[in-house]
Amino acid sequence: MSIDGARQAARDVLKQYGITTAPVPVDRIARELGVRVQFAPFDNELSGMAHIRDGVVVVGVNSLHAPNRQRFTLAHEIGHVVLHRHILEGAVHVDRVLLRDRNSSAGTDLLEIQANAFASELLMPTDILEATLGGRQVVLDDDVEVATLAKKFRVSESAMRFRFFK
Ligand SMILES: [Zn+2]
Repeated sequence: MSIDGARQAARDVLKQYGITTAPVPVDRIARELGVRVQFAPFDNELSGMAHIRDGVVVVGVNSLHAPNRQRFTLAHEIGHVVLHRHILEGAVHVDRVLLRDRNSSAGTDLLEIQANAFASELLMPTDILEATLGGRQVVLDDDVEVATLAKKFRVSESAMRFRFFK
C-alpha cells in the first residue's frame, strides 16, 4: 500500500463515522472499531503497543506522555488495526518514540510510515484543515499560527509542522 493509500484509509474511517470537525474524536473511533484502549505508564521511550488477544484488538497508550501525543499514538495504533491487522496476530506490536528519524530501509519501517501517515490524516484531515485555513497557506515559521492550529486539532506542534512537510 502506498502512503496515499494509508491517508485515504484514514479519510474513509472519518467518513464512515461522520466526522467533519476538529478535534477528531479518536477515542470514539477506537470504540467504534471495537478496539479496547488501555492507558498505562510505560517507559518513556515506548509510545504505544497493539495486539489481538482472544479476537479483541487491545491497544496500549503511554499515559505518561502529553495528552496530544497520546492522541497521536492512539491514531497510529488504529492505523495498524485498519491497515495491518495481520501483524497484530500472535505478537505484540510495540512502538517506540522517534520512529520518524530512523532510516526506513526495513519492511517494518514502511508499516510505521504508513501508520504515521494514517494517524496524521486522521487527526489533521485535509478537508478540515483546508476549511480552517480558508485557502491560505500555512506559514510554518509563524509559531503562533502553528500553535493555534495544533490547539484546534489537539495535536502537538511538531505533528502539525510535520503534516505540512508531506
Ligand atoms: Zn507502529
